[in-house]
Amino acid sequence: TNKLVMIPGPTPVVRSIQDQMARETVAFGDAAFVKDFSEVIADLKAMWRCDGEVFVVAGSGTMGMEMAIANTTKRGDNVLICSNGYFGDRFIDMCTRKGLNTDVISAEWGASVTPEMVEKKLAEKQYQVVTVTHVETSTGVEAPIAAIGEVMKKHPEIIYIVDGVAASGGADQYMDTMGIDVVLSCTQKAFGVAPGLTMVWASAKAMEKRKSLGAIPESYIDFDKWLPVMHDPSKYWGTPAINLVWALKESVRIMKEEGLEERYARHRRQAAMFDAALEAIGFRVAAEKAFRAPTLSVYLYPEGSGIDDAKFRTVLAGEGAQTAGCLGGFAGKGFRMGHMGNIDKHTLVSAIAAVERSCVKCGYAVELGKALGVLQKGLVNE
Ligand code: PMP
Repeated sequence: TNKLVMIPGPTPVVRSIQDQMARETVAFGDAAFVKDFSEVIADLKAMWRCDGEVFVVAGSGTMGMEMAIANTTKRGDNVLICSNGYFGDRFIDMCTRKGLNTDVISAEWGASVTPEMVEKKLAEKQYQVVTVTHVETSTGVEAPIAAIGEVMKKHPEIIYIVDGVAASGGADQYMDTMGIDVVLSCTQKAFGVAPGLTMVWASAKAMEKRKSLGAIPESYIDFDKWLPVMHDPSKYWGTPAINLVWALKESVRIMKEEGLEERYARHRRQAAMFDAALEAIGFRVAAEKAFRAPTLSVYLYPEGSGIDDAKFRTVLAGEGAQTAGCLGGFAGKGFRMGHMGNIDKHTLVSAIAAVERSCVKCGYAVELGKALGVLQKGLVNE
């Protein structure tokens, strides 16, 4: 059986994007490539409603996180980290290493830090930066980015950094109305491209902040080093991942064709359909309803189902759907599944069917077709 990549990233890569990665590589100064790269940057800037600059650099999402911090902080700054789980926490070590003072507000597993919590902290102390993870991949929780943005608008001196890795391209993300100063993301999640590129959007305010810092210790991820390249990709700083830039361009083309608003709405519908299907056979969504992410899910095994976590996921992979184990507070209690990017009805149907077969094979006797039937009732209206 073909294995669908249903982990929360990387996600399935459609043929037209694969084709871009398979193209013969050209020189980075190639006129056609320079034009392609410039167009991707311009599109990303417009689509995220960014009044500053966009950086597209080879590296994974973690590098994007580091790039956001490196270009907006200096040693001794105060950073407020809003963490809803494993990836929110990732900022802690990163910031501590840079000599930043970190305060962390955390939510229970499955819940989110709220705007009220942020407001309270900001009233207590002067922070230079606040970080929020848009979709926390360890819990399937979407933070209220826009509502926290309203709080941030009352503190224009603070830089609002959003980790968009598991959200960008699948969940509403508009820098202007949401008051975001830096969004970082990467290619292997809702963009539906292979891993390898990080994207960082920096507002005009964030670029001013960068300027005020003067020389920073970091080199490869310095905005100043990349800015001339982003303005004119025939210039050189580090060799661009040419084929991935083409693949990203195709991904952006697909997004524009679908329409961003529709794409975001589709992700919410897909998540709701998956929930309905799996709840019909006893699974539970780990994230609180109010914070349920559109791009990925943590599904908890039904009480008394007798399902063994490791066995279930091995059987499920054999049945054609690769999923991920849970982390932290949910470890061993469920599985994590991505449902983002350019996935279609075939993929959704196959994934739920594989879950049903795996339940039966693991001794949890669900009625085959029950979850699938619920999914189908949703899909028929798509
Ligand atoms: N932030 C979030 C929310 C993530 O989900 C991930 C990856 N799962 C990362 C950061 C790190 O990205 P990468 O693994 O590409 O370095």
